[in-house]
Amino acid sequence: MSPPLPTRPDYLAFGRPDFSDAEIDAVARVLRSGWIGMGQETVAFEQELAKAVGAPYVVTVDTCTSAIFLSLVAEGVAAGDEVITPSLTWCATANASIYLGAKPVFCDVDPATFCVTPESIARRITDRTKAVVIVHYAGYAIDVKALRAALPARVKIIEDAAHAFGSRYADGTPVGSSGNLTCFSFYANKNLSTGEGGAVALFDEEKAARIATLRQNAQAADAWKRFTHANTVLLPGIRELGYKMNYTDLQACIGRKQLARQPEFAVRRRAIAERYARALAGMPQAERVQAGATDARHARHLFVVAWDPQKLGRSRNDFLLELRGRNVGASVHYLPLHLMPYYRDIDPAKLEVTEHLAPRIMTLPIGAAMTEADADYVVTHLRDLLAIQEKAHEV
Ligand SMILES: *Cc1c(COP(=O)(O)O)cnc(C)c1O
Repeated sequence: MSPPLPTRPDYLAFGRPDFSDAEIDAVARVLRSGWIGMGQETVAFEQELAKAVGAPYVVTVDTCTSAIFLSLVAEGVAAGDEVITPSLTWCATANASIYLGAKPVFCDVDPATFCVTPESIARRITDRTKAVVIVHYAGYAIDVKALRAALPARVKIIEDAAHAFGSRYADGTPVGSSGNLTCFSFYANKNLSTGEGGAVALFDEEKAARIATLRQNAQAADAWKRFTHANTVLLPGIRELGYKMNYTDLQACIGRKQLARQPEFAVRRRAIAERYARALAGMPQAERVQAGATDARHARHLFVVAWDPQKLGRSRNDFLLELRGRNVGASVHYLPLHLMPYYRDIDPAKLEVTEHLAPRIMTLPIGAAMTEADADYVVTHLRDLLAIQEKAHEV
């Protein structure tokens, strides 16, 4: 018998961000400046983001959840409307509609891309459908041109691009440049991380101004202008209910450095994804890897594999726990919403592909701070755990 494989002493978290002295120095500079709220750093970050995603306007907000919520408001979604979303997503995608009194309606995904399709959405459209919030799952960019052509013109498309900063559509243009309101997340483990944060990229100047106003209690002038210019006291006054959903310079200064480092991060993510894909191609227990996972257009926010539980010889959950026992931070994205008690009561949908994938999918660790040696560690332990199972079957 060969000796057991050594286990690394530290836990390999599934999406560890990478912060360098550049980010740390930027924070120190903003702290010393005396203004850490929303101000000139935020404005500069918004302009740099707009350039990066190919949209004329970017409005930052406190979270991607708020970005989706304010996008729905800007698109006129209100109480009683239906908003179609995948079930295979983070709860925020659906919650944003519920906050407005609208009803999330869950649709299925494609078995290869794990993303919604024109057909899966069409099956759930009714007279009350006001919008769809699509998710570029794991970083796979949905063909939004084909989707726009397939949907009735009255149905607004909002893109949840929380996984897709840096992804490109089929025609090579960046996610964010489609003309749809496109929402990004700068949450702790996202590709561009500032701890918390979000943004809406869009082409409509009026909607951009409305979102920019709504994010700061519907006050038209920026707080920093009121802070720095003693003269701007003659404000027009609040015209509608606003929210406190603004971003801050303390975060924006981190975001600007993270944005500049995206090419460096992309190279690392790509190398890790390619290693995983190559190894999994030789594992018959792997039913499939998400389509496009090694494609240059994919931001590789998540690396998702679906296991065959029969060939695996145990449940995905048990396999996940075995991996975690080896300090591999594998995870699941996601437990489908329509199978959770709260959302099942709202829309008890029957979604064949999503329910097939639910007990099979696993996210392997991938992140800007991960090395190729870390990826090799994951592969070695996947192989070892699968071999142990095969041996157990032989006796
Ligand atoms: C992370 C995430 C969100 C929410 O982002 P926050 O910035 O944490 O609000 C929304 N949708 C998806 C698919 C996500 O992964």
